[in-house]
Amino acid sequence: MTMKSASFLSHGDLKDFLMRLAREVQIWVPTLDVSFPHVVTFKPFQEGMEPDFQRLPVKSAKNVLFPQVEELLRFRLDKESCEFSPQTTFVEDTKEIQPTVLFGCRPCDARGFLVFDRSFLQGPFVDPVYKARREKNIVVSMVCSGPDSACFCGGVGSHPADTEGSDVQMIPINEGYVLHALTDKGQAFLEGIGNTATASQTQEAHHVREKARRSTEHVNSLTERAESFSKRFSDMAFWRFQTHRCLSCGVCTFVCPTCYCFTITDETHGFQGERLRSWDSCMFFHFTLEASGHNPRPFKAERFRNRIGHKFSYFPEKYGRFACCGCGRCLRHCPVAMDIRAIVWAMGETEEAHD
Ligand code: SF4
Ligand code: SF4
Repeated sequence: MTMKSASFLSHGDLKDFLMRLAREVQIWVPTLDVSFPHVVTFKPFQEGMEPDFQRLPVKSAKNVLFPQVEELLRFRLDKESCEFSPQTTFVEDTKEIQPTVLFGCRPCDARGFLVFDRSFLQGPFVDPVYKARREKNIVVSMVCSGPDSACFCGGVGSHPADTEGSDVQMIPINEGYVLHALTDKGQAFLEGIGNTATASQTQEAHHVREKARRSTEHVNSLTERAESFSKRFSDMAFWRFQTHRCLSCGVCTFVCPTCYCFTITDETHGFQGERLRSWDSCMFFHFTLEASGHNPRPFKAERFRNRIGHKFSYFPEKYGRFACCGCGRCLRHCPVAMDIRAIVWAMGETEEAHD
């Protein structure tokens, strides 16, 4: 992707800029959650809010384009009180999609949306709600200068200065931030900043970006190991051994920027109600439970195998990229410290696992 222009935003000007912007669009920033001290989460910016670009938000930014629960439509049944009388259903589309800016997410979160795009926009069916949100959204990602021991973007073909999936790249320097437009949407966004970066600011930003890019070069690539999935598929002793600690709690999928499973429910009140879409998780027993009572993935070993297969085998075979951006959230927040990258790595080991 070609860089189109560079702007500069000082630390002192940042909040004024966000305030101005917040009058026109909903602007999501990472910030400390007042109800949970030390937890950073993405929230719509408001006056008095302090963005926190240092710590990685617990949940990914997928919430901005794919809310945890959303109303898709409302319905009303027009029916006589007699049980056998004819019935008419009125459906009201209640969706009004607002323009949004996701400001200061990490490059891994920006790449996460590319996985959503493949499924929601580029398959045989287009999801109109996701499409509308995506079109009205601008992603401003921040070069990540502090990957931690759980991060492994370098193992899935990316790095902390990746620009894929972003409209603007933001680079922290001593005095503030240098911003590069990567798309036409990003270019229009930067026109609202006005200040052009000086040559020395651009040079400093270049060094920051290069340092970040190189910081994960030592991370082992998972590409070759992932190719062992089909050979390991039937080795249930391996999958049971690797997944015996898992509690099937689903935390890994809820914090993940690339997990997009959902369920649809109709909430009714008398003769009216709402159709809701809510996040679901392939790690739950009920996710694949069929009406007959049969469950094709009744055990956690099968569910975990499916999660790994989807992210590292089926999805890349179909779409040419891992459905994992290496953000490390599933490792960091799993209550029993399951490590997805270690399992992918172990798939390629030659010795057999034991029950
Ligand atoms: S967060 Fe950990 S324990 Fe919970 S479902 Fe995921 S892997 Fe299993
Ligand atoms: S699977 Fe884990 S590391 Fe990969 S994108 Fe999801 S949360 Fe991040």
